[in-house]
Amino acid sequence: MPFHPPSWVPKLPFDPPDSITVNDFILDENYERHPLGYSRPIFTCGITGKEYSALEVKERVDFLARGLAKEFGWQPNKGTEWDKVIAVFSVNTIDTVPLAWATHRLGGIQTPANVAYSAAELEYQLKNSGAKCLFTCVPLLETAKLAAKKCGIPDNRIYILDVPKELTGGKGAPAGIKTVDDFIREGATLDRLEPLNLEQGEGAKRTAFLCYSSGTSGLPKGAMISHRNVIANTMQIRTFDTLSRRERQQPGTQSEYTENVLGLLPMSHIYSLIVVCHVSAYRGDGVIVLPKFDFAQMLGTIQRFKINTLFVVPPIIILLTKDKSTREKFDLSSVWGIFTGAAPLGEETADDLQQIFPSWKIRQGYGLTETCTVVSSTSPHDIWFGSSGSILPGIECKIVTLEGNEITGYDQPGELLVKSPSVVLGYLNNDKANKETFQDGYMRTGDEAVIRKSPAGNEHVFIVDRIKELIKVKGHQVAPAELEAHLLTHPAVNDCAVIQIPDEKAGEVPKAFVVKSPSVSIEESDRILARQIQKHVEEHKAKYKWITGGIEFIDVIPKTPSGKILRRMLRDKEKEKRRQA
Ligand code: AMP
Repeated sequence: MPFHPPSWVPKLPFDPPDSITVNDFILDENYERHPLGYSRPIFTCGITGKEYSALEVKERVDFLARGLAKEFGWQPNKGTEWDKVIAVFSVNTIDTVPLAWATHRLGGIQTPANVAYSAAELEYQLKNSGAKCLFTCVPLLETAKLAAKKCGIPDNRIYILDVPKELTGGKGAPAGIKTVDDFIREGATLDRLEPLNLEQGEGAKRTAFLCYSSGTSGLPKGAMISHRNVIANTMQIRTFDTLSRRERQQPGTQSEYTENVLGLLPMSHIYSLIVVCHVSAYRGDGVIVLPKFDFAQMLGTIQRFKINTLFVVPPIIILLTKDKSTREKFDLSSVWGIFTGAAPLGEETADDLQQIFPSWKIRQGYGLTETCTVVSSTSPHDIWFGSSGSILPGIECKIVTLEGNEITGYDQPGELLVKSPSVVLGYLNNDKANKETFQDGYMRTGDEAVIRKSPAGNEHVFIVDRIKELIKVKGHQVAPAELEAHLLTHPAVNDCAVIQIPDEKAGEVPKAFVVKSPSVSIEESDRILARQIQKHVEEHKAKYKWITGGIEFIDVIPKTPSGKILRRMLRDKEKEKRRQA
C-alpha cells in the first residue's frame, strides 16, 4: 500500500482543471482564487517599493501578450507551444512571472535560466530548449548577448526586464533594446487578442515552463512542466495550509487571512517559481521581490514590509543563526514562520533558530523540479525537526528497495517514488531518462527516504540520503556528469569522478577525484596542478559549481564492469576519512 496524506489533511476541493492555462487559473475569479486579493499588491519590489496589484498584473499581462504577439508574429491559436519558447535570464523582478503569464496567454513556454550561469551554460539551455528570444536584465546583458550569438538568436531578439537602478549603477536599458514596459505601452494601443482555445485535457499536455534539472543522472535536462502541473501543486499547497490559515484569520471577520512573503529565492528555480510566486498570487498574498541575496538588505526588507513568511534555503537559516550582530539590528517581529526547502535542513540548525526566535514556526518542504515542487511539507501543527513533513493532498508515495520491492513499514529506508498530478510530463527529447525516471505512473526521485510516525500520530517523510547523482550547493543543482565532462577537457586529466562532500555554509560542495594523464611530469606539484584544474572550472562554470571541496589525485576511478562510476564507494571512503580526522 502506498503512503497517503494523513487524515487531517483536507482533500482537494476540486480536480486540478486540465483545460485552462496557468495565468487564467491564477488570475481569474473562478477556481476559488482568493476573493480579496485583487486590489492588494501581489508583486512589490523590495528595493524601490514599486508594486502591482493582481488587477494591474492582469492588465499588464494582457497588454504584454499583445506586444509580444506583434513583435514575433505569434497568435494564440497558431503553431505549437514549441514555436513560442521565451528564455529568461534575469535576477528576480516584479515582471518576471507576469512575463511568463503573457507567454502562456499566447500558448507559449517560459524557460528560466540560473543567473549565475556563464555564457556557455546559458548557451546550452538556449539551444536545448529551442528558445526563440531572450529576456535579460542590464547587469547580465553582456553574458546574454554572448550566449545568444552562439545560438543564432540575433541581438534584436534580446529584451530587457527592468531592475532597480541600484543594480545597474544608474543605467537604464541601452538605446534600441526594448523593455517589458515598452511592450506593455505598445500593447495597450493594439487590438485585443483572440482567446486561447485549449481542447479538453490540453492543459495537462501542454508545456508551460521548461525548467532545467539533471534528474537522477547525466546532464541538465529540460523538465516539461504542464499548465495542469502548476495548477495542481498550487492547489495542493493552498489546500494543505487551509487549517493554519484559518487559525490566523482575524477573529470575528469573514476575510480570509493573507500575508506578505519574502520573494528572494531565484525565480528560475521551481521552489521560488511555484511556491513563492504562483501559490502566493493565488492565495492573495503579497510577494516582496528582491533581486539578489544580501543578508542586511533581506533583513531590512522584512522589517520595512512587515513580512510574515520567509521562504529560504538552509544556508540562509545558518546565517540567521550565526550572524547575531547583523540580525539584531532589525526588527523581525512581523515574522510568523520560515519555510525551507531545496536541500536538507539539519536538526541542530533548526533547534538553534528556534532558540533565537521561539515563536517562529520553522517548516520544511521536500520537492523536486520533476514534481513541480512540493511533495511533502511540515504542518505548523505538527513540527518535527529533521522531518520534511506530511504528504500533500492528491499525492501518493511509495518507498521501494534497491531491488524494487515495496516497503510498507515505518523506519525502513528505500527510494521514494511519487505519484501526483504535479509530476511533470517528462524531459524534453530524452527517452532514456524518461524511461528511467517515470515508471508506472510514479516518478523515481532518486532520494532515499523513510516514513516515521510523529508523536501526534501522523506519518512524516524523512529524506535520509541521496541515491542519485546530484550535488546541492546552497539549494542549486550541480550535476557531477557535467563537471566530469568539463574536467576531462583539461589536458592533465585522464579520468575523474565528482562527488559531494558536506560543507557548513553551502550544505554540500563538489569534490573531484582525478587520475592524472600520463603526460603530466612527475615533478609537477599536486597542489599547483589541482589549482590549475580548479581554475579550468572557474573560468567556464557558474560559481556554485566550483570544485571548492578540493581535488584528490588517485590511481584509478572505481567503476562497475559496465563502466559506471562507483560514486557510493568514493562517498563512503570520504565519510570514513572524515570520521577518522
Ligand atoms: P530541485 O529539482 O533543484 O528542487 O532538486 C530536488 C532535490 O533536492 C531532491 O531530489 C532532493 O535531493 C533535494 N531536496 C529538496 N528538498 C529537500 C529536503 N527537504 N530535504 C532533503 N533534500 C531535499
